[in-house]
Amino acid sequence: MFSYRHAFHAGSHADILKHIVLIQLVSYLQEKEGALTIIDTHAGAGIYSLSDGFAAVSKEAEGGIFRLNQYFQSSDHSVFTSSISEYMQAIASENPNEEIAFYPGSPFILAKMLRPQDRLKLFELHPKEIDLLRHNVQQLPQSKQIDIYHEDSFSRLKGLVPPPSRRGLVLIDPSYEDKQDYRYLESALEEALSRFATGCYAIWYPILSRREAAALPDRLQKIATAHKRSWLQAELRVENSPGERRLQASGMFVLNPPWTLEGHLKEALPTLVKILGQNSGAEFILKNVEN
Ligand code: SAM
Repeated sequence: MFSYRHAFHAGSHADILKHIVLIQLVSYLQEKEGALTIIDTHAGAGIYSLSDGFAAVSKEAEGGIFRLNQYFQSSDHSVFTSSISEYMQAIASENPNEEIAFYPGSPFILAKMLRPQDRLKLFELHPKEIDLLRHNVQQLPQSKQIDIYHEDSFSRLKGLVPPPSRRGLVLIDPSYEDKQDYRYLESALEEALSRFATGCYAIWYPILSRREAAALPDRLQKIATAHKRSWLQAELRVENSPGERRLQASGMFVLNPPWTLEGHLKEALPTLVKILGQNSGAEFILKNVEN
């Protein structure tokens, strides 16, 4: 426990998929004026330097945001779909020069999107990450709209839903460092859905051969169906190579997805496969089921 540090993975292809989906969810939910509560159950440090520390060691951004940015800078921007362009704007807002030195994690991406009526609740359990998160969030003009909890979000989520306005988005992005996370995630989701069935829930997951990981998408589909919720599943694979030395694919599972999300991803995913794909095994999956 506590060996996972998200800085190793900041700006990877998995972050790109997760954050593109996240931005589209918030944009859609903000089309209505009513206050929105966003819960980020696994926050990390908030923002990461890509030029030193863990990120510079892992170099995961090279196959992710650096590659996408290089393509973005050298191409006619009209080849980029609106969801990729909006995501690139969020990354650019932390990087005044063309070069990308900092990668905003979900807390920063979400904080920058808050309107005055919205609130953001961030959970982080790691003793070092929570200090970094608090320090980083304090620098933000939106900090007064943000609550930070140094607590286990799996057990706390049910107490925070439904939010007072009954308009809520929950991002569940565990590290899956502990294989129990798969089980805790399912029970936290079940409990949250039984209290707040109309909330929008977005779950990130790694695609790995580990038994618990391979079973998760099916289990999420079963939970969504049992609660009569529509769902969308988007997966991005950047390579198909023997061994699992590095993560080759990941997915986002969204319960109660906005009707606009499928169209955005239908456009964005083939572009991401083309730019981020490492070999002929690169591909995407997109499923949208109404219940
Ligand atoms: N959501 C972040 C982003 O997109 O930038 C990345 C989060 S990272 C994948 C997962 C984080 O969850 C780690 O920083 C880890 O310390 C934290 N964590 C692990 N178990 C937790 C729990 N039960 N409750 C809250 N945070 C937890």
